[in-house]
Amino acid sequence: MRRDLLMWKIPGGLGTAGVGRRVGASLVGAAMLAMAGCSPGNSSGAPPSEVETRSFWTPYAEVNWSAIGHYDSEFHTHPGLGDEQYDPHETIDRYHEEGYRILALAAHDYDIPDDYMDSIYPWTRLSEIYEAIKDVPNPTEDNKTYGEMAGWRPYEDRDPVALGMVSVEGNEISGPHHMVSLFSSYTDGADTEDETLSTIRDLGGIVYFAHPGRYVERWNLTADWYVDLYRRFDVLIGQAIYNRRDNHPGDREFFDEIAHILGADRPIWLFGEDDMHHEGTLGWNRDVILIEDFRPGSMHPDLPDGSAPDVRRALERGTTYLWKPTEQYNRRAFNVVDIQATQGEVRLVVDRDDLVEEVRWVTHDPELGGSRVVQTGPYILMDQVPEWARFVRAEIAGEAGTIYLQPIYIVGP
Ligand SMILES: [Zn+2]
Ligand SMILES: [Zn+2]
Repeated sequence: MRRDLLMWKIPGGLGTAGVGRRVGASLVGAAMLAMAGCSPGNSSGAPPSEVETRSFWTPYAEVNWSAIGHYDSEFHTHPGLGDEQYDPHETIDRYHEEGYRILALAAHDYDIPDDYMDSIYPWTRLSEIYEAIKDVPNPTEDNKTYGEMAGWRPYEDRDPVALGMVSVEGNEISGPHHMVSLFSSYTDGADTEDETLSTIRDLGGIVYFAHPGRYVERWNLTADWYVDLYRRFDVLIGQAIYNRRDNHPGDREFFDEIAHILGADRPIWLFGEDDMHHEGTLGWNRDVILIEDFRPGSMHPDLPDGSAPDVRRALERGTTYLWKPTEQYNRRAFNVVDIQATQGEVRLVVDRDDLVEEVRWVTHDPELGGSRVVQTGPYILMDQVPEWARFVRAEIAGEAGTIYLQPIYIVGP
């Protein structure tokens, strides 16, 4: 075995759980940590720029695991401005009933009559929005009016604070690639993704790519096309790996390919999205947001912010993970309650590990041209990570569903 690989066996034993067990190794490990001149993660939430030894960088480094809660979110919903099953207040009620705490009502931009309304926001003014648009025809729905599509039942107001929820302003933008635009009122797609992303940036929003597989299939988009946009637009936070139940099974491998090219220099985060048009597409994805001191609210002047700024920060920094149920509506059966990371080891702690059947550590293998499991079990050591790997991400699988952790990037030489 090569000497550098052998060396990594030593700090590999220095996980928080390993310190007590391997006193002899921990001194060496501590020395190497000091040599690296960098603890895993840093206060800014950005990956360390200079590390002398190959190390794990996890987006979860700053999470105070004893203080956070796990809050289910959905950002890609279609609440009735096209001819969808549920109107806005019904969409809120259904997600609330299913235990989601963070929600965006994200209509297609082409379903929004811009002369009469902006986003479907805030929830406390849904009845006003209905009055403004009920007699307006929607050209993308055979000129049916919005009132007709709602069965002439007016939208009802909802108060996110009373519901214990965080409401996020959002829209699905045809940019032309569909994107879920959050924390801005932007409702017009532009002719090019450059224009769309520039506008979202100017408005102070953030955005992720919806269902990339559709465009890989229809437009032959390549990983490099996405990489170029990620590198030029900080407002892009990531992309969907699950759409509805699983419309584009290639989206996981595609995400891995892009994360491999970008590496820690430009971290991206994975999302699941219901893309909810009717009950059959509701409750298939839960993007779990890890935040402390959850307070309901929304970033609208009529409402207290509550935890909305923390939700945004979590989305930007990747302090989230996806719960993907095996059956519609399955709630989280287990939670990640700690991630112990040193430069040489990442160890996962799950609250109900009796319900976990397998933990897979996945990366992109450039030679294979696809994703590959490089290790199984609750921890991974650096010497188990192939030299060509730019990240690893864990899939924690049980009967009720699978947790998809965000990529843990490899930094250093
Ligand atoms: Zn779409
Ligand atoms: Zn959609």
